[in-house]
Amino acid sequence: MTKAIRIHHNGGPEVMQWEDVPTPVPGPGEALIRHEAVGLNYIDVYFRTGLYKSPLPATLGMEAAGVVTAIGEGVELVAVGDRVAYAGGALGAYATERTIAVDRLVKLPDAIDFTTAAAMMLQGMTAQYLLRRTFVVRPGDTILVHAAAGGVGLILCQWAKHLGATVIGVVSTPEKAALAAAHGAAHVVVGHANLSAEVKRITGGAMVPVSYDSVGRDTFMPSIDSLAPLGMMVSFGSASGPVPPVDIGMLSAKGSLFLTRPTLATYTSKRADLERVTKDLFEVVQSGAVAIRVNQTFKLSDAAAAHEALEARRTTGSTVLLP
Ligand code: NDP
Repeated sequence: MTKAIRIHHNGGPEVMQWEDVPTPVPGPGEALIRHEAVGLNYIDVYFRTGLYKSPLPATLGMEAAGVVTAIGEGVELVAVGDRVAYAGGALGAYATERTIAVDRLVKLPDAIDFTTAAAMMLQGMTAQYLLRRTFVVRPGDTILVHAAAGGVGLILCQWAKHLGATVIGVVSTPEKAALAAAHGAAHVVVGHANLSAEVKRITGGAMVPVSYDSVGRDTFMPSIDSLAPLGMMVSFGSASGPVPPVDIGMLSAKGSLFLTRPTLATYTSKRADLERVTKDLFEVVQSGAVAIRVNQTFKLSDAAAAHEALEARRTTGSTVLLP
């Protein structure tokens, strides 16, 4: 038997149960992984509440790091004993062991420990595609990053600075502002009530070519109003709730804006993309350009408390669940 956090229906953190489940056997193209560390991500909240749908009962979680303990038929990408990590693919990371399709696994460099790996895979790959592919950030760009002290946020701030950009971070408290500033945000705005006016002041009226907005409903219009003509609104999350339907005529009226709603799954669905993105991520982490901040750890069995903290905006940086 193995242990897993499962939900039998959607709801608050209390629906998560620590249960015995049979140890799965890897099928063709799969490996069995013994998890050493599991990543906590906001998407886990969306699956728990039902904003994102999955068949029930479900084991939550999309990211972990650990050791391959068995492989199925035809597997060549990994071998028993390999240190591996993954983000995305089928749900099921909140477990002491799981099977997974090996084309989602990457081998870990020796220098990256399991906790760091579990913290950085999903959030770091997200930062990579957002900065390097969705909108290609150039030296000299001034960009807007929401939830700048969060998991994805702290990585975006550091990586964008490393690329030569000036980051305007948006956070909810002075403490988070200090943290974002210490991780590369040149300017930090607390709250979004006067965001476009603040962006206008900071940029001398130029506004920004891109807003990386993971907050969703509450910040959609402040983000749009902070863009320069031809700017890109990258709406990549819904921490405050989903963005209501948009009248696309507004995009022309506000200056021929671009709007995209990207997901990591699209940007890493091909194995070659997954390898390129993780190579880039491992490089910036190993060079020290991007530090992964694991600011909270919880026991995996205590995942409900981790969800409560994340939703109450009490976490900063990344959070890892330990089996
Ligand atoms: P974070 O660590 O960023 O936590 C969420 C943060 O959102 C909070 O700390 C808070 O920061 C901010 N926030 C603003 N409004 C609310 C609210 N009403 N309730 C809760 N939080 C709020 O989480 P992650 O790093 O895991 O994820 C960040 C975002 O990126 C999420 O929206 C997630 O869905 C998205 N994401 C999208 C991906 C994609 O490919 N599309 C992939 C990965 C993540 P503050 O207090 O400073 O406002």
